[in-house]
Amino acid sequence: MPDDAPPLAGRHAIVTGGGRGIGLAVAEALASRGAVVTLMGRNENVLQTQAAELSLRFQVDVAHERVDVTDGALIEAAFQSAAARFGPAAILVNNAGIARAAPFPKTDQKFWREVIDTDLTGAFLCIGQVIAKMAASDYGRIVNIASTAGLSGYPYIAAYCAAKHGLIGLTRALAREYARTPVTVNAVCPGYTDTDIVSGAVAGISAKTGRATEAALAELIAHNPQGRLIQPSEVAETVAWLCLPSSASITGQSILVAGGELM
Ligand code: NDP
Repeated sequence: MPDDAPPLAGRHAIVTGGGRGIGLAVAEALASRGAVVTLMGRNENVLQTQAAELSLRFQVDVAHERVDVTDGALIEAAFQSAAARFGPAAILVNNAGIARAAPFPKTDQKFWREVIDTDLTGAFLCIGQVIAKMAASDYGRIVNIASTAGLSGYPYIAAYCAAKHGLIGLTRALAREYARTPVTVNAVCPGYTDTDIVSGAVAGISAKTGRATEAALAELIAHNPQGRLIQPSEVAETVAWLCLPSSASITGQSILVAGGELM
């Protein structure tokens, strides 16, 4: 690569849930640093549109694969197809996730499984597709999008908290297991971030409590000492930094992007 090449030039980055929200912002941040990107998610039209737009904006190759991260066979096919197109992944960002809220007595097994399968097992399965090849290559970055709910307990989201705590446990275990390889494994833990997840949470609080939308939003914002929602680009910049060559000694970390909500 020429000396003035962007820091991730030519590296293949796979971003799950890359069509919108934090995942799309991460894809932008990686593409802007020269990575070729595969967006993965369930909505083919959205992925196709965003891939074309990113490619045009950043002048890098961007493709997409339709995948539901709860389906092991689809994951395997999608990762094989992505590797055939752009080569093995050098970067994997496990971002696909759902946030479901319910009081614990209403958290039945179906609800529990849906959250754990998407937010924890999905990441486990995607990592399984790439980590051996990353370890045998000269470069590997895995970033798991966890949450403040991966580091502390919150009411009404027992399944989500369990999944995100599990994701941080997985991050720490793999960081140690692969420490003698070029692979780093980290988690990024956002506070309430301005995406569809927060709009959904606000709508849910309003529907359940009869409170106005503004009051429901204010309740979520009050968690953040800075008194605002985090922007997806702020999370994405932290992810991109972890993916740089210069972040090689940062592994096993859970980095909060939450305005001081937790310390
Ligand atoms: P969005 O709802 O905007 O995006 C969620 C993304 O995950 C979408 O791209 C969606 O793709 C994808 N996804 C969900 N389920 C699946 C599935 N089964 N298979 C494939 N893709 C799936 O939310 P955010 O951008 O906010 O969330 C991204 C991550 O950030 C999540 O892991 C979330 O837990 C985490 N997070 C978010 C916070 C917030 O306040 N927003 C705070 C802390 C963490 P599709 O188009 O297929 O639906």
